[in-house]
Amino acid sequence: MIEKLVRKNIRKLMPYKVNIYDDVVKLDANENNDLAHGFNEEIAEALLDLKINEYPDSDCWALRRQLADKLSLLPEELIIGAGSDQIISMIINAFVDPGDNILTFSPTFSMYRIGTELVGGNTYEYELDSQFKLDYDGFIKKVEEDKWKIIFLTNPNNPTGGIIPRHEIIRILDIANAIVVVDEAYYEFYGETVIDLIRKYPNLIVLRTLSKAYALAGARVGYGAGSKELLDILYRVKPPYNVTNLSQVAAKICLENQDMMMESVKKIILEREAMEKELGSIEGIKVYESHANFLLCRIERAKDLYEYLLERGVLIRCFGDQGPLANCIRITIGIADENQLVLGIIKEFMGIK
Ligand code: PMP
Repeated sequence: MIEKLVRKNIRKLMPYKVNIYDDVVKLDANENNDLAHGFNEEIAEALLDLKINEYPDSDCWALRRQLADKLSLLPEELIIGAGSDQIISMIINAFVDPGDNILTFSPTFSMYRIGTELVGGNTYEYELDSQFKLDYDGFIKKVEEDKWKIIFLTNPNNPTGGIIPRHEIIRILDIANAIVVVDEAYYEFYGETVIDLIRKYPNLIVLRTLSKAYALAGARVGYGAGSKELLDILYRVKPPYNVTNLSQVAAKICLENQDMMMESVKKIILEREAMEKELGSIEGIKVYESHANFLLCRIERAKDLYEYLLERGVLIRCFGDQGPLANCIRITIGIADENQLVLGIIKEFMGIK
C-alpha cells in the first residue's frame, strides 16, 4: 500500500548504499587518513564552550566571514551546506522543474544525476573518451544546444582524477545560458580554481568541501561560492539550521589550521605520485593520471582484487563490470604504511614477488 503512495520519480530509486566494515584500512571514500585525528584535541576543547541547547547560527555567519577573508570574497557570496552534497541538492531544487534537462559528463560524481532524478529532471551525460578525457569541442556543441538548466563540471573529476583546464571552463562559461557548477571538492590537491570568476559570471557557482583535504568528512561541511544574485536564490531553498553548531566549531578550527592541511596535502601528493609509478609499472594494471587524492586503475578481475584486499583488511572502491568503469577500482591515497600495504597485497594478487 505504502509503495503506491510514493512519488513517481522515487519509485525506481535505490538507497545510496554505504557498506560499514569494522577494522579496515579505509581507502574507499577519498578521505584524508593522514589527518585522522589532526584537529580532535582543539575541537574537543572548543566544544566545552558550546551552547548545544541553542539552535546553531542558521546561516553560518561566523564561518562565512572566516572563509570570505581567506578567499577574498564577501560573506554574501558564500553558502554553507551539510557537505557539498547538500549544496548540490539546493541548486537542483532551486533550478530544476520536472522535465528540465541538466548536462554533465560521465563517469563523474553520481549525486548530480541522483538529485536531478529526485525532482523529475533529465540528466544528459556526455561520455568521456577511452582515456577518461573530455572532448572539449564536442562538449561545447552540447552546451550550445541551449536546453540546459544546470551544467555540472567536476574539477578534478571523481572517480577519474582528470581535470578541465581553466580556459576550457571559460569557453563553456562564455556561451552557457545555464547555471554552471564547478565542483572543486579536490581543489587543494590540484591548486587551480575558477572561484575568482564568480563576479564576472553571475551564473557560476564553485563548490568546495572540508571532507577531503581538511579531513572533516564526519562533520559534513561544504561551501558554495557564487554571485550574490545566485546565492540569494539558494538561500530560499536552504533548510534552516542545516549545519550543526558542533560542525561549525569543527570547521572553524580546521580552517584556522591551514598550514597543517597544506603539509598533509603535500605528503599525499608525493604518496600519490609514488603509487602511480609503482602501480603503473605492474603489467596488467592501467593507472589513470590523477590530480586528486585517489587513483583510478583498470585491471582484469577487479572484483576479485577488491575481495582479496577486503579479506586482508583493506577497503577500496570497485565499480563492477558494466559500463565505462567496468573493471575499474579507485584507491584513496592513505598514509605511507597504508599505501605500502595495498601495494604489497596487489603485487601478491598479481603473482609478483
Ligand atoms: N563532489 C565530489 C566530486 C565528491 O567526490 C564528493 C564526495 N565524494 C562530494 C562532492 C561531496 O562531498 P561532501 O558532501 O562530503 O562535501
